[in-house]
Amino acid sequence: MKIPFLGKVRLHWCDICQVPLIRKQCSSCGKSGRKIQVTPPGDIRPAFEGDLSQLIKAVEDQYGVESAKIFQNMIKNQILLLNKVPYVDRMDEIYYLGGVIGLLRFNPLKENFELVPKLALAQKLWHSGASNWVEVDIGAKEPIIKGASVLAPGILGVHGNINLNDPIIIVCQYEVIAVGLAKMDRETMLNSPRGVAIKTKYRKKSLMVEPISHSSWEKMIKANRQSLVYIEDEAINFIEKTAQDFNNIVVAYSGGKDSLATLNLIAQSDVPYEIIFADTGLEYPETLENVKLISKTYGRKVLVDENESWDFWERFEQFGPPTRNSRWCCKSSKLAPINSILEKNFPDDDQVLTFLGKRRYESFGRSQEPRVSQNPWIPKQVSASPINNWSAFEVYLYIEARGLMGLLNPLYTKGFIRIGCWVCPAASLADFSIMEETHPILLEQLTQRLSSIKSVNNFPKQYISWGLWRWKILPAKILKLLQRNNIKYKIKNSSSEPSSQLQFSMTRSPSPCVLGGFSSYVSANQLLELELINQLLPIVGETQLNEELDLLHSTDSRGNRTDVFRDGSVIVRDNFKASIDAKAIDFIKTIFRVTYCDGCGVCIYNCEEDALFLRNGKIKVDTSKCIHCMRCNSFCPLLRYRSDASYIIEDV
Ligand code: SF4
Ligand code: SF4
Repeated sequence: MKIPFLGKVRLHWCDICQVPLIRKQCSSCGKSGRKIQVTPPGDIRPAFEGDLSQLIKAVEDQYGVESAKIFQNMIKNQILLLNKVPYVDRMDEIYYLGGVIGLLRFNPLKENFELVPKLALAQKLWHSGASNWVEVDIGAKEPIIKGASVLAPGILGVHGNINLNDPIIIVCQYEVIAVGLAKMDRETMLNSPRGVAIKTKYRKKSLMVEPISHSSWEKMIKANRQSLVYIEDEAINFIEKTAQDFNNIVVAYSGGKDSLATLNLIAQSDVPYEIIFADTGLEYPETLENVKLISKTYGRKVLVDENESWDFWERFEQFGPPTRNSRWCCKSSKLAPINSILEKNFPDDDQVLTFLGKRRYESFGRSQEPRVSQNPWIPKQVSASPINNWSAFEVYLYIEARGLMGLLNPLYTKGFIRIGCWVCPAASLADFSIMEETHPILLEQLTQRLSSIKSVNNFPKQYISWGLWRWKILPAKILKLLQRNNIKYKIKNSSSEPSSQLQFSMTRSPSPCVLGGFSSYVSANQLLELELINQLLPIVGETQLNEELDLLHSTDSRGNRTDVFRDGSVIVRDNFKASIDAKAIDFIKTIFRVTYCDGCGVCIYNCEEDALFLRNGKIKVDTSKCIHCMRCNSFCPLLRYRSDASYIIEDV
């Protein structure tokens, strides 16, 4: 699996003070720390209560109560760091006293968290009386140490109720020699005359030093004091310098740790600011409470969009769930409120500088974005990211050092890594499993809707349990998982009513028209709402509603007339055969756009002629201003985040 490089990873370990460092120098003892090799992308974070209880539970489930007690004792009074690494779902390297002691991952097959210990931890667990281990013959020892798999005939004894893919401790003559993943269950291991029983994963000695003192947030802050001052000063300088060119300045607060750090940095600077919050309507209750707390603490009203929000679930019924390939909800639910807040509170023509808690380590896309950029969707907004180069660990250190832990959204301590909408296709199965504990009623709302899509389409149960609904195009790792487990799944239209979404069939074979030029035929799969379409169709050409014939005439600048009938038929005409298909697509897109318009306002702010406005929450064009440039179609999120093939069926 190719691991993306998102930025230089800065993590050292002070062996004297036994704390992690974000720069080489330790501010407590003055010595240089040793560099820790971190697997990229390297967005290290501290383990909170939620993470620790998952970890301890995984040890208990796999190795027994006694091992869990020993493990709990071992990590007591130490700060563990987690580093998210690529896997089919969430997987974190666990850093203990400056070294990796294992992996904590969410196993989709078992639907729970599991620990894959490295050799040093496996030794400790085994000596504590752990289960889930096998004893191998002395003859197998050398090949296993060199990396060979454990073959069934070489197994002398199996301890514990071992299932496929369980992490297994491999022992030879009272010595732990490796850790591997079971490729057979207990019975097969004991009875099979041949075959790979365990695939060896860890065999080299891994570092696990013994603690010489307790670790704490206080010690970490002290050891990183100078480094923190350095990154904080750099961020504040950036804020003050960037703000010089703007009169309107806001901080976009989201309820997450990154925006909390950003907000506090702005508050420390001498820049005047307002706070805005884009409520998507799918926020966790903790987030909404947190926004109130922020407003009180920073002594200012948080600016929100007071318009009625769009109905996510209505759209869900029409389009199916949002997916990682098509997040139709994202732009509408975030851009609409931001557009509206900025327009209402900053009605002058000046742009609004918006400080965001965006960081390069969050994703490849973010690592490529400049620190200051024009928002392509909101002409009024220039975005700037003071903590662009900070890791999650640096953000948390800053939050703790500046006494802001009381303002941190409590969801982080429950095991969530990122906090956004609670229905998000970017969430992992690990997130949904935590949600099952923390917000069962919200999760049930989603599950019920997914269940009806599953039964209408006859999808396998993994549509929900493995979260297959989160993709329109399955990634290779998920396809492999399905293949390996012999699960058949073919993605279809995933709304709960098949073909409930407006779709068009078009023929790419224009024929000569009796009125002159060429004509092409398009047909919709349902009746068209002509009165509504008439609000926007004038962007394509001069439009008239013919009530008698129940159709819309649209005439272009060369006098070619296109007819849109209520029954769903559209006859497109043009002088030129070569341009008629593009014209038909313009009609389809315009009809689709106005039919599903949710009033997000993105196109309004991007029309240079100021020709668009909302009427009853739907887009409408001012025909006296429109110059038919068609630019607005390309900005509408309903079209931009959807492949044409999802609503245009071409008959070539
Ligand atoms: S961007 Fe404005 S001028 Fe251009 S087609 Fe759309 S409404 Fe008309
Ligand atoms: S037509 Fe305009 S207002 Fe409506 S959804 Fe598209 S971009 Fe938003």
